[in-house]
Amino acid sequence: MSESKTVRATSYEVKIRREWCKGCELCVEVCKPRVLEMEGIYAVVVNPDVCTGCRLCELLCPDFAIVVTDIESEASTDP
Ligand code: SF4
Ligand code: SF4
Repeated sequence: MSESKTVRATSYEVKIRREWCKGCELCVEVCKPRVLEMEGIYAVVVNPDVCTGCRLCELLCPDFAIVVTDIESEASTDP
């Protein structure tokens, strides 16, 4: 008997509006998985695959420069 199953996985997209970033580094410090790094005076996304979607960076950015979005993907296990 074969059974098909649909697996849903959520990943996250992190966007930083560079023109709004003032380079305070708060987001880099708060992101434990190290998704973000400073590049000169701006924060940049360097490791999007390890984002847990906690949204701390988005919540703590004083300039509302970060937006985190869920991306849901579906994978069927049909043979
Ligand atoms: S918290 Fe906001 S303003 Fe501060 S470095 Fe990060 S993106 Fe830039
Ligand atoms: S949502 Fe959480 S894990 Fe993802 S970049 Fe922001 S602080 Fe890091």
